[in-house]
Amino acid sequence: MTADPSTAEAVCSRAGCRAPATAQIVWRNPRIHPPERRKIWLACDEHAGYLRDFLAARDFPVHVEPFPASTAAEAAR
Ligand SMILES: [Zn+2]
Repeated sequence: MTADPSTAEAVCSRAGCRAPATAQIVWRNPRIHPPERRKIWLACDEHAGYLRDFLAARDFPVHVEPFPASTAAEAAR
C-alpha cells in the first residue's frame, strides 16, 4: 500500500470534475504570496485553459506545465 501520493489522486481541480490531470497550473497571488511561492492546480485537458484564464483574469502570474512533470524529466535523462 505505497501508492505514490503525487499521482494517486491526480485529478482535475475544477469543481465537480474527476478527470485525470494532464496539466498543472502554476500560479501565485502577488498580493498575498511572496515571489518564491508557487501554487499548483491540476487540470484535465478540458479545464486547463479555463483555470489558466480564471487566474490570468485576476492578473496573477500563471503558466501551464505538463503533468506529470516527471515525464519530461525522464525523457531528458
Ligand atoms: Zn477537468
